[in-house]
Amino acid sequence: MKFNVLTLFPDMVMDSLNHSIIGKAMEKGIIQVNSINFRDFSDSKHNSVDDYPYGGGAGMVIQAQPVLDAYEDLVKKEGTSRLIYLTPQGKTFNQAMAEEFAREDQLTFLCGHYEGIDERIIDSIVTDEVSIGDFVLTGGEMAVVLIIDAVARLIPGVLKNNTSSEHESFHDYLLEYPQYSRPEIYKGMSVPKVLLSGHHKNIEIWRREQSLLRTYKKRPDLLPFANLTESDKQFLKK
Ligand code: SAM
Repeated sequence: MKFNVLTLFPDMVMDSLNHSIIGKAMEKGIIQVNSINFRDFSDSKHNSVDDYPYGGGAGMVIQAQPVLDAYEDLVKKEGTSRLIYLTPQGKTFNQAMAEEFAREDQLTFLCGHYEGIDERIIDSIVTDEVSIGDFVLTGGEMAVVLIIDAVARLIPGVLKNNTSSEHESFHDYLLEYPQYSRPEIYKGMSVPKVLLSGHHKNIEIWRREQSLLRTYKKRPDLLPFANLTESDKQFLKK
């Protein structure tokens, strides 16, 4: 899968992604991240990309020209794809969106900076507006890193065990069950006996119940969206 990122700070994106699991996936060519500095497309004398907002007000606004020219160049080279603008005004990113994005062959992200971008960019090329939460960052770079990380780990071959993302929190709107590793007893705290039993069916039941219980306690707002069986509902009634 290919991720294109239109940004003023390509190194911020690449340096953050170039580690651990995502770094290895890039090295193996399972995912490609193509970070493009749209300043390189500025037709102004000093390669400037921002100017004062019409109507006055604080800060600077990223102009349409460098972004639209960078995008046109990208389309010539890579073809078209969804163009996702990172903005606090967008739909809040979640696991369902990560799963939807992971089904695409290619995605393009646009990072704003300063006070934001000229609205005509949104009107002409943006297909999706996505936020990472109700707070304001200085730029879209950290947001795109977070989204690429969440999407990339769903691509087959990125995680060692492809099924590990299937039981994780938010998949099917349930939080993941508790996890334990060696030793069996640490500072007087024991691992639940069922996990040591080797009885796969009982482990599966325990994990499902823990998952339901945790979601009920920590994120009850998710439960109405979860795909609950009759026995799940019975368990939650107890
Ligand atoms: N003036 C804009 C507003 O009030 O909607 C905020 C601009 S913000 C300072 C600069 C850039 O950071 C935005 O263009 C966007 O790309 C990015 N950004 C800020 N907060 C974000 C968030 N919560 N999610 C995604 N991107 C964000």
